[in-house]
Order: sequence, then C-alpha cells, then structure tokens
Amino acid sequence: MEKVIVIGSGFAGLSTAAFLAKAGYKVKILEKNTTTGGRARVFKAKGYTFDMGPSWYWMPEIFENFFNEFNHCTDDFYKLIQLDPGFKIVFRNKDMDIPSNWDEICQVFDNHEKNGSDKLKLFMKDAEEKYNIGLEFLYNSPGLSITELFRKNIIKNINKLEILTTYRQHIKKYFTNSYLINILEFPVLFLGTAANNTPALYSLMAYSGIKQGTFYPIGGFNEVIKAMEKICQKHGVEIATNQEVQKINITNNKVTSVTTINKIIKTDLLIGTADYAHIEEKLLEKKYRNYSDSSWKSKKFSPSALIFYLGVNKKIEKLDHHTLFFDEDIQKHTEEIYENPRWPSKPLFYTCCPSKSDPNVAPDGKENLFILIPIAAGLEDSETIREGYFNRIIRRLETYCEQNIKENIEYKKSYCINDFKEDYNAYKGNAYGLANTLLQTANLKPKIINKKIKNMYYSGQLTVPGPGVPPSIISGQLVAEHIIRNKKKH
Ligand SMILES: Cc1cc2nc3c(=O)[nH]c(=O)nc-3n(C[C@H](O)[C@H](O)[C@H](O)COP(=O)(O)OP(=O)(O)OC[C@H]3O[C@@H](n4cnc5c(N)ncnc54)[C@H](O)[C@@H]3O)c2cc1C
Repeated sequence: MEKVIVIGSGFAGLSTAAFLAKAGYKVKILEKNTTTGGRARVFKAKGYTFDMGPSWYWMPEIFENFFNEFNHCTDDFYKLIQLDPGFKIVFRNKDMDIPSNWDEICQVFDNHEKNGSDKLKLFMKDAEEKYNIGLEFLYNSPGLSITELFRKNIIKNINKLEILTTYRQHIKKYFTNSYLINILEFPVLFLGTAANNTPALYSLMAYSGIKQGTFYPIGGFNEVIKAMEKICQKHGVEIATNQEVQKINITNNKVTSVTTINKIIKTDLLIGTADYAHIEEKLLEKKYRNYSDSSWKSKKFSPSALIFYLGVNKKIEKLDHHTLFFDEDIQKHTEEIYENPRWPSKPLFYTCCPSKSDPNVAPDGKENLFILIPIAAGLEDSETIREGYFNRIIRRLETYCEQNIKENIEYKKSYCINDFKEDYNAYKGNAYGLANTLLQTANLKPKIINKKIKNMYYSGQLTVPGPGVPPSIISGQLVAEHIIRNKKKH
C-alpha cells in the first residue's frame, strides 16, 4: 500500500486525505498545531465557543458533494439552517437587511431603484449561469493544461463568462444605485479583491450569497471540520497533531521522507496543504522550488485581518448574525488594502454574532461576538495598534447599538498578522491566500504539482481553485484525483 503524507489539517488537507484513503492509499496527516482545522479551528473560553475563521457558509452543494462522495450527506453530521436575514449591511444613513426570501430581496431592490427587481432577476439569471459553468470548471480543472480552458462548455459560453470585464463594470450594466452596487460587490470584496480588479465571472459569489442564501451549521463552522475528520478516520487516515514539518527530504528528485520536530517519517508521496510559499521557502531546498522569492513578492494577496473574539455578558439587540459596517468610505478602505497597503484610516468592519442563531456557542443571555477588520497582508502588527483599533470599533459599535458593550466584555482575544504567521506559517500573515485577480485565476494560480520532484503535490487556498472553504475542499479533491489518475507515473 502506497504511503502518503499530507502536510496540514485544514479543509484542503482533510479533503485530499479522505479521497486518497478511499482510493486505498495509507494516509497520514501531519499538523503543526495542537488542534485540526487550520484557519477553521475553534477554541473554547469561559463557556463560549469561538470559530476562529470562516463564518459564511455559501455554495452549500459543494459541502454536500463532498459528503456524497463518501455515501453520506451533511445531515449525517450537522444541522444546517438558512439565516434570515442572510445578513445586514449598516450604511451611513440606513441599514439594509438581505432577507432569505427571494420575493423580499426583490422588494429591497425595487425600493432602491426603478425596476430594481427586474434588473436583479436578469443579473441573477446571468450569475446563475456563470455559477453553473464555473462549478463544472472548478471540479474539472487542476490548472495543469491549457486544454482545460478549451472545453466545449467553456468555448460555447465564452461570451457569457465575460473574462475581460471587471465585476464592477458588469454590475454597472444593471444598476446605478450605490447601495445596491455595494450589496452586490460585497461578496468579492471580503473574500479576495476589489470589484474593479475582479473578473465579472465572480458574480457567481453574489449568486450564492444572495440568491442561494447564507447558511449556518449549528454548533459552528468547525462542525464541518469535525465531520470531515470522521470521514477521514472511517477510511483509516491517521492524523498527528503537534507535528510541524521542518524539512522535506529528497533523493533522486523524489521525496523520501519528511523531518518533523521530533521524527523522520518515510513516505511514497507528499502533498503540502500548508501555505504554498512556506512549503517552498522553508521546507524545500532552493533548487526544488516551483517559484522564486521574487515571484511570491510580486503576487497580489487577499487581505489579512484584525480579529477580536469577544464574550459579552448581555444580549446586543441591534446586531444580526452577520452585520457588515459599510458606514465609512468603502473605496478608501479598499485602496488601503490593495493599492496603497497601510492600516485603514476609517475602517469598514464585520461582526459575526453566532449566538443570535445558536445557543451552543455562548452561555444563556450572553453574546458570542467576532469582529473582523480586513487589512492588507504584510503590515506591521503590534498590541498597541490592535488596541487602538479595538477602542475605535467598540465606540462605533456602541453608538450604533445604543448600548454599552465594552464594560460587558468578559472575554477578549485579538488575532492578527503575527498570529497568522505564527500559527499557520502564513506568507505575510495572509488570511485568505491569493486575491482573485484575472492574472491569478485558473491556470495562472500556483501549480498543484512540483515540477522538479516527481512525487510531490500542493493543495489548498493558494492553488486552484482559490480562497474560501468550498474551493479549498475542491482543491483537495483535484489533487487526489490527479494522483489517482497518474498512479503509475510517480
Ligand atoms: C478570519 C477568516 C475568515 C474567513 N471567512 C471565510 C468565510 O466566511 N467563508 C469561507 O468560505 N472562507 C472563509 N475564509 C477562508 C477559509 O477559511 C480558507 O480559505 C480555508 O480554511 C483554507 O483552508 P486550507 O486547507 O487551504 O488552509 P489552512 O486552513 O491554512 O490549513 C493549512 C494547515 O497547514 C498547517 N501547517 C502550516 N505549516 C505547517 C507545517 N510546516 N507542518 C505541518 N502543518 C503545517 C496549518 O497549521 C494549517 O492547519 C476565512 C479565513 C479566515 C482566516
């Protein structure tokens, strides 16, 4: 039985391990941290359960597809609910709820623009087509051959994909109202790039987040990690935590073993799902790397984040499960992330309050509150900077909520660039990998194969299909399928 080592136990690591184990490989996952899940880890403190990373459960069929591959469904492991409203956006002059019901969403658009709902229906019809073509593409494109881009379905629909149109130009073909434009731009902004630098294809994100809706697994996002771990265990995958890989050992252009903090472990195949740049720069000798240091420096990274995990000993009435604070200049904050990286002068921020929907994540009568400010990757990070932003954001929250909050915080932990580096070996402390620009899409993403080492592969949010939980799950599957297809070659 061929032995496989997978570095990392995030979504990509668990996904690839499960598929390979099902195909008969003997798989071992090595994870540096004490707990599994990577960026989707969880921690408990003072009766609160905090998801550390993802909170938006979009593209539900990708989760379902994963479990179906193992003759299961999500219901076997966790209960999924649809949030209503899906989310709320706080603008300077008004709040807008995005309901779960389609007719009510249409009403919101009619209230803001003449024929708003008709335009929205056309926009979403187009986005749904992009979504369906996009999904088929994601599942079938390991990014290794240009022929992947010339499949019948892609060629036939090339105009529909609007590859050379930016997402903002695309939205403006339909809408003029700035609130509606902001609502439709948000899905790409928080997870990747500014709308004026993202291909129109990514309207598929708006289709998922607004038309399909926003979901939540009761117990928290980490329930998905637990479920995937169960699938792995059922297929015999061994998961070793506290096992940071420090070196990849190579003989005759083949990985023979890895050196961890306390062992040398032999293997026939290696899949690195930790941050791609870390694997290349820290674990491989220079001559075996796919990309040079300068190539990593020139890439455009998605935002990092300043996060606060708060336990609040009372209810906060005006917050929803997901509330986006777009009450400052969106353009300015976007520029301060991408064009002119610096700490934001007037930050937008996002709050997630899962205790609104789930009694499991906070003690009775209390609130589990996660605050996230998107920031450029690679900024200087210090306690003083974090605390300065904390005070400003809490003041804004208190004003908006018309309630004291700061004096009711009974648990507080901050998390930022230095933690992303320390915990995940994240290049420049990135949170979500590479930005979804045209030049970093599909075949232009870092490759899943090592070009110089026959039996080494990469998976995860820095390679195809890209950042986010659903793409990371697909990434693991793509690599496993590639290995299984090419079994005799390594
Ligand atoms: C704050 C935040 C919010 C997010 N929100 C959302 C959201 O709402 N919805 C969504 O879909 N996505 C969201 N994302 C993105 C999503 O979480 C990621 O795209 C996804 O979890 C990445 O999974 P991965 O397996 O590629 O990487 P990771 O989760 O980073 O897994 C890599 C693993 O490798 C381990 N590792 C690193 N170096 C080594 C080493 N040398 N040896 C052994 N192990 C090592 C790390 O510890 C880690 O466990 C969010 C991310 C963050 C950070």
